[in-house]
Amino acid sequence: MPLRTLCPNCHGQRTTHCLACDGTGKKSIANVSIGNCSECGGTGQRRCDICGGMGEIEPEAQREPQEKGPTGQTTVGSFAS
Ligand SMILES: [Zn+2]
Ligand SMILES: [Zn+2]
Repeated sequence: MPLRTLCPNCHGQRTTHCLACDGTGKKSIANVSIGNCSECGGTGQRRCDICGGMGEIEPEAQREPQEKGPTGQTTVGSFAS
């Protein structure tokens, strides 16, 4: 039984596409390159922060059971005024 599951964000790549530079690693304005992307340092990839660069996550981490309050207690408001 696998204790860990593949990270749904990076799919085990451990890195994700840098959104700031669209994966190019370059920062550009109007198609003119003005240097490396400061977000990813010019690599175009960023460490996945979902799995922390592990490529895998613990199954419990991705789906936390929603703790609900006392069951069956539907509060019916009375609008009589
Ligand atoms: Zn990941
Ligand atoms: Zn970037």
